[in-house]
Amino acid sequence: MFPRGRSTVLALVLSWHLGAQTAPSAEIRQYLKVEAPVVALLHARVVDGTGAPAREDQTLILRGGRIEAMGASAATAVPKDAQSLDLTGHTVLPGLVGMHNHLFYTHSAHFDEKGAVPAPGRMFAEIAYSAPRLYLACGVTTIRTTGSLEPYTDLNLKRQIDAGLMPGPKMDVTGPYLEGFEPMTPQMHALGGPDEARRFVAYWADAGVTSFKAYMNITRADLGAAIQAAHARGLKVTGHLGSVTWPEALALGIDDFEHGPVYTDTEFTPDKKPDQGPPVAASWGSWLKVDIAGPEVQALIHALVAKRVAVTSTLPVFELGVPGRPPLQPRVLAAMSTESKASYLAARGRVKVAPNGMAEQLLKKEMAFELAFVRAGGLLLAGPDPTGMGGVLPGFGDHRELELLVEAGFSPVEAIHIYTANGAAFLGRLDRIGTLAPGKQADLVVVRGDPSRKIEDIENVVTVFKDGLGYDSAKLIESVRAHVGIR
Ligand SMILES: [Zn+2]
Repeated sequence: MFPRGRSTVLALVLSWHLGAQTAPSAEIRQYLKVEAPVVALLHARVVDGTGAPAREDQTLILRGGRIEAMGASAATAVPKDAQSLDLTGHTVLPGLVGMHNHLFYTHSAHFDEKGAVPAPGRMFAEIAYSAPRLYLACGVTTIRTTGSLEPYTDLNLKRQIDAGLMPGPKMDVTGPYLEGFEPMTPQMHALGGPDEARRFVAYWADAGVTSFKAYMNITRADLGAAIQAAHARGLKVTGHLGSVTWPEALALGIDDFEHGPVYTDTEFTPDKKPDQGPPVAASWGSWLKVDIAGPEVQALIHALVAKRVAVTSTLPVFELGVPGRPPLQPRVLAAMSTESKASYLAARGRVKVAPNGMAEQLLKKEMAFELAFVRAGGLLLAGPDPTGMGGVLPGFGDHRELELLVEAGFSPVEAIHIYTANGAAFLGRLDRIGTLAPGKQADLVVVRGDPSRKIEDIENVVTVFKDGLGYDSAKLIESVRAHVGIR
């Protein structure tokens, strides 16, 4: 630990002021293992997030919450007052930018004897204590919440994190869902028309949310009104759609689509009625009949690329539907509450006995779409979506998404680029985060091993730097043991 003399304390205070940051509270300090004004990371392998190949034996100098210098160790001077960490055998990459990173979670799936979800429908639990800690512990230093069920909680969490009162990532708080009738969960409001959609956007933008997400039952008129109102304030709108097809939403000016078309674009669904969401089995089935290389899907890809509209990959939540997947990780189960663990394992058991190859075909098709979309010049974003049957957790799910992108055919370095620079670019923050370069914010992840060759090494997070403060990943994970699902 860095010695704390009087001049050191003064230097710390000064550096935080220069970096326009708040000194960390006692709550935060217990998770810090590096809090020096100047830090030197020596002999690290660097994956800088630009998509460039990994560089061996690099040194990074962090000062005042920023990257001051970065280069070959032999050519990079280490300031005398720096706290040095020898990172031989480790890799440094930019902090991950999670773009479908809710602060709520499927804490417990409830089914009746017939396997249906009884009224009032599916419910989700805000996990305000554990989610921000897990995201940060896993190297996710920036998130978009991509739909809020407790918007005041989300906004207050952001304020507390930014004020240095609790550990967590930087946050783009998305407003409550823009949904129509009948909402998928009673935790969502159903909009009553374009006027209300405009008032809704204005109210929540004034309250501090910085993005919006439309949902599966919204009408074209309400979506169009909401997009115009959000754009007038410089805010972006994404959608997990169903009632509105992707081509319809493109024409209305949407900025991003969640989950990929295989799971949410209803343009090929037989007998699709305007403004009505068809049964998912019908829309998913329609995508099994079209070819990614065929003219219909290629036309969609060209329209997305031409309009610079992004797609957010959330493969982990769909992997849950495939029998035998994902691998059961002790670290994931250990973080769950007793109830959430029992619920997830029971739900997973039900998947196993269902004789159904559709889930696997859909996952492969979505992977093929995402690869084709990026190869055509599309902007792919990524996040875990910690919902479904409860097997995807904040943070650990981000690691799984990186692994699934590699399974889809991206190189590990490309997958990291998607998870860092692409998210930062979409958020308009690429000048500050998303890649490693002198002058950028010192938001970076130190992992043991080499994820540029073996993406699973991303799970070996050792230290996470946010604004130059180094958090102990293991301590953060230990602090949420058995909490995920109840707080
Ligand atoms: Zn979601």
